[in-house]
Amino acid sequence: MDPIIAANWKMNKTVKEAVSFIKDFKELVKAITNVNIIICPSSTSLYPIHEELGDSNINLGAQNIYFEKEGAFTGELSPLMAKELCKYVIIGHSERRGIFNEDNSLINKKLTAALDNNLTPIFCIGESLEEKEAGKSKDVVKKQIKEGLKGIDTKKIIIAYEPIWAIGTGKTATPDIAQDMHSFIKEIVGNVPVLYGGSVKPENIVELIKEKDIDGALVGGASLDAKSFSEIVKGSMS
Ligand code: PEP
Repeated sequence: MDPIIAANWKMNKTVKEAVSFIKDFKELVKAITNVNIIICPSSTSLYPIHEELGDSNINLGAQNIYFEKEGAFTGELSPLMAKELCKYVIIGHSERRGIFNEDNSLINKKLTAALDNNLTPIFCIGESLEEKEAGKSKDVVKKQIKEGLKGIDTKKIIIAYEPIWAIGTGKTATPDIAQDMHSFIKEIVGNVPVLYGGSVKPENIVELIKEKDIDGALVGGASLDAKSFSEIVKGSMS
């Protein structure tokens, strides 16, 4: 399977900045056909980026959806709206869980809605520093999987293992730690693609991707710069 390298831009980039990134980035990766490249910008940039991408080798994803199709849900993005433009959607990111109080049951509804609308979810799981230090990493991840994936067809999902202590901190999990968790995840879920996320950079992608069960990366900070993100994409082919 080709590596999957996804950019999570979070709440960054205006439309102008997003389109300018895509113009540069398209050039930098135009020869690459054996990496599944996914960009997940803010909702306001989905349409202009969709138009700018045309039939390029880059896929588009949303950062979140609500589980209802339409109605009185101020501020939310419907799966119907997302699917007009995107193939992918990030669900259950630790910032959604932590800042916006999303629990496993809500995340399960969003995963169901994504699949019902032919969107491939990138389902994020991972433990906090406190849970890691208490030796509970695997228990936490197992619970997120069991509750989040209840009734879900796991053949159609991507999982991103993102230890919270490694997100935006510069502290990447060592390839060994990540590999151990990825193989644990596959023991529970089966053979799904499992991406690693948490301070991935051009300098560490090569070591991470060498691991048997690391199938790609979900990249935050280092995906905001076209050159740096293109180097991560290229590093994933080694
Ligand atoms: C993320 O938020 O999904 C992420 C992995 O962020 P960063 O790469 O900045 O640690």
